[in-house]
Amino acid sequence: FQLSYSDKDRYEREERPDAQKQILVDIAKSLPIFTRATSGAIRFCDRCQVLKPDRSHHCSVCETCVLKMDHHCPWVNNCVGFSNYKFFLLFLSYSMVYCVFISASVFRFFINFWVGDLPNGPAKFHVLFLMFVALMFLVSLMFLLGYHCWLVVQNRSTLEAFSAPVFTTGPDRNGFNVGVRRNLQQVFGDNKRLWFLPLCTR
Ligand SMILES: [Zn+2]
Ligand SMILES: [Zn+2]
Repeated sequence: FQLSYSDKDRYEREERPDAQKQILVDIAKSLPIFTRATSGAIRFCDRCQVLKPDRSHHCSVCETCVLKMDHHCPWVNNCVGFSNYKFFLLFLSYSMVYCVFISASVFRFFINFWVGDLPNGPAKFHVLFLMFVALMFLVSLMFLLGYHCWLVVQNRSTLEAFSAPVFTTGPDRNGFNVGVRRNLQQVFGDNKRLWFLPLCTR
């Protein structure tokens, strides 16, 4: 998807925007590119100097184009996309299980706190802190994971959910939707037994 030396030279020498677009169209003919910019032009990243593969976007934080970019996640300080989407979803699921475990194991002491059975001291603060933080994260993760499950089933990235990908025939929200089963397989792999394990199964 990178321009060859001669193509790059030809592209940079050309001053007319229309002719530049045509150069990209010619190069894209030999590539598996099916999406277009909203204007109908071939998607090109000026910063990376590449023709953008379908579903990829440039991340200004990572300073590179990311395949099937979903979003840049400040929590994991990385982009979530083609190479790590499964691991991101598992991260959310495992975190949720952890929050459930924490709130369940603190629940007994939380009740003790309310009926006044807990001795004075730092334990009170610890119990309250654990309970509220675990519940707060549990609720936020539930919404986030729920939203992402919906995206996986529809075969959409967060970016595509906000603005539909544009094909040669026009914008199509369901352009990548190949049925629930195959949408799930694209993210989690063919072997169902490995879906919930942190292994690369695509
Ligand atoms: Zn880029
Ligand atoms: Zn990024």
